[in-house]
Amino acid sequence: MINITLLGATGSIGQSTLSVVDLHPDTFNIFALSAHTNWQSMLQLCQTYQPTFAVMSDADAAEALSNKIQGDTVVLSGAKALDEIAAHQQTDYVMAAIVGAAGMASSLAAAQAGKRIMLANKESLVLAGDIFMQAVKDNQAELIPVDSEHSAIFQCLQGGSSGLSKIQLTASGGPFLHTPLAALESMTPEQACAHPNWSMGRKISVDSATMMNKGLEVIEAHYLFGLPSHCIDVVVHPQSIVHSSVYFEDGSTLSQLGNPDMRTVISYAMSYPDRIISGVPALDLTQNSPLEFYTPDFAKFSCLRLAFEALEQGGSAMGTINAANEIAVSSFLGGQIKFVDIASVIEKTLEQAQHTRPETLNAVISNDQNARAIATEVVKAYA
Ligand code: NAD
Ligand code: MG
Repeated sequence: MINITLLGATGSIGQSTLSVVDLHPDTFNIFALSAHTNWQSMLQLCQTYQPTFAVMSDADAAEALSNKIQGDTVVLSGAKALDEIAAHQQTDYVMAAIVGAAGMASSLAAAQAGKRIMLANKESLVLAGDIFMQAVKDNQAELIPVDSEHSAIFQCLQGGSSGLSKIQLTASGGPFLHTPLAALESMTPEQACAHPNWSMGRKISVDSATMMNKGLEVIEAHYLFGLPSHCIDVVVHPQSIVHSSVYFEDGSTLSQLGNPDMRTVISYAMSYPDRIISGVPALDLTQNSPLEFYTPDFAKFSCLRLAFEALEQGGSAMGTINAANEIAVSSFLGGQIKFVDIASVIEKTLEQAQHTRPETLNAVISNDQNARAIATEVVKAYA
């Protein structure tokens, strides 16, 4: 049996992971689960999976869960407990599926403990890419991407990367691909979260609408595959069937294709280097014609431009845009700013923040907090 710690169990990736586990009860055991505040969903999950540990990062939610829970599951609370279940001696694989910077420390704890990390939390790499990759290397951890584009590239590179000239991330373009720039002004959170192909959490859905998600993924790819920004390309592909491509010097291009369903990516991370049933039906190419590809519009999707610029600037710039983006997205979802203000909040925060080269986790966290404070002030000017 392979013991899994599932961080972010109540989220979209968490639920898809559990549905793959359900198909392979003789191979995978849920060792530990985590969630933030939703103790009612966690209670149900504990009844079904009987994990050894259940962590609620929110203390009140942990207490509510403790009062109701039956069976032998130990309930823990707080951020430190996330690190403990990620690094626990009895866990084999860690699914890092907490959203945002809140997921960074536990992903890193899994890396430091030499686990297989199935990394959905791209923010870990955006904030602390150098520190994270070094911890993976030093502790012989196994890092398997759980992001459809990066999994596609990882799969295409199984034959080796000799002669690789560039990688190309596909982007659906989100719900506003064909919306004129002038009309973006009045877009609501509900419209922004209505992704045409993928069903995801609200934060990443807004990131897809601004294309900041692709920007964060460019940075994620830089660290995962050790490539400079000029070897990372983005192409808009509204059907989300081609998940990404790798280009070689001899003129060959390899792509990975599939229905847009994260269970394929998750099951591959769980079974790598083998493959197992994921519950996703086989792709029928005739039902998806024509497949279209476009150059991204950097003027309309300025978040994508900002992410490329932050990667080129290096150091704290990437953590700064991530923090500013988290504040801007939650302010947009909370009705304080407009959709089009998200990019300008990020740009202004980047201008005002001090540029540093954080080399320790504490320096990364301090930059994250400073950038959040600046972005919060910037948002107030829009209210
Ligand atoms: P989600 O919002 O559906 O779920 C987030 C999970 O994180 C929940 O279980 C929640 O309880 C937990 N959480 C939220 N805030 C927390 C905090 N402060 N401390 C501890 N736990 C907290 O998000 P999602 O769509 O499942 O995305 C999770 C991660 O996976 C993100 O980093 C996202 O970028 C990445 N990702 C998601 C998809 C997708 O299809 N959903 C695809 C690729 C990558
Ligand atoms: Mg993705």
